[in-house]
Amino acid sequence: MLDTQPIQVEKATESKISKVDFSNIQFGKIYSDHQFSISYDGENWIKPIINAYKPLQISPASPALHYGISIFEGLKAYKHEDGTVAVFRPDMNFERMNLSAKRMCMPQIPEDVYYNSLNALLDIDRQWVPVNPGTSLYIRPFLFSDDDFIGIRPSQRFKYMVITCPVGAYYSKPVRVKIETHFVRAVEGGSGYCKTGCNYGPAIYPARLAQEEGYDQLIWTDGKYHKYVEESGTMNLMFIIDGKLITAALGDTILNGITRDSVLTLAKDWGVEVEERKVEVAEVVDAIETGRMQEAFGAGTAATIAQIATIGYNGKDYDLPPVEGRDFSNRVLRMLDDIRYGRTEDKFGWLH
Ligand code: PMP
Repeated sequence: MLDTQPIQVEKATESKISKVDFSNIQFGKIYSDHQFSISYDGENWIKPIINAYKPLQISPASPALHYGISIFEGLKAYKHEDGTVAVFRPDMNFERMNLSAKRMCMPQIPEDVYYNSLNALLDIDRQWVPVNPGTSLYIRPFLFSDDDFIGIRPSQRFKYMVITCPVGAYYSKPVRVKIETHFVRAVEGGSGYCKTGCNYGPAIYPARLAQEEGYDQLIWTDGKYHKYVEESGTMNLMFIIDGKLITAALGDTILNGITRDSVLTLAKDWGVEVEERKVEVAEVVDAIETGRMQEAFGAGTAATIAQIATIGYNGKDYDLPPVEGRDFSNRVLRMLDDIRYGRTEDKFGWLH
């Protein structure tokens, strides 16, 4: 534990920051100067270290490479006008990461390891948190098997790491999404509620097919009947129908999104009626056709709110009302940005 083992710090000899064009940052292309890592030896967390961002050494037999014994999280840090660096709801990522760890037979990450690593890494790479409007520092904690054993069994040795990268403003052009009726992302009893690599690799092919058909992304449906809508790409899916906010209830197949929870919390605070339940594809199509669907959007850390312009289903495209008139989602986006960038009171205690 870090309580007993201080983090060893080996500063990068040269910073890459002067080479970065902060007015044009591409997601995931450039990483900050430093990385954090700590090992789990089967009993203890040992050797916490912050050093220069660099390639890893890993056994070719590591189950992380063969069986996807790896989990990850995604969260963001924002720079306030007074220079404060604030991380949005890291407690929820911590809980979700340990939920994923349990599902994958991995050790729980101790709270002090999580927060001390976050604080120390953000402190040393503070100047990497960008200041331009809409920009932030994306934080990627991850945990993977560091075993040297190709058999299929719970791993014993692990590595927990954190890397960060500056990300640009997300100019969210409204998206065209297709309701997927063949491929599935998650099933009852599966691992859809976790952020394990195993859920993400296989989702790329169906998304690529949808893109070849002219859509930006998919709406995943339930794995048994394709009768209920679940999520959209790597976002939770939300609708405003007849003035009510409707989204899929949490369960095995739905990731407990932190943006989802934040949107629902704001909606309830504003007196908007919220329904978390199964949402039928037929209900979605009917609500659009009868003009009762006022808004549809994805909610996730990357975009916060990704407006949906068109939903394709069984070869037919259904257009949604213009984005300008979408009072609820536009208000949510403004409010979440105001909280994150410290422009309004942090009423719910979301900033760390
Ligand atoms: N669903 C899936 C499948 C995701 O990967 C993500 C991204 N983490 C989300 C929803 C949105 O979650 P969050 O708001 O925590 O980013």
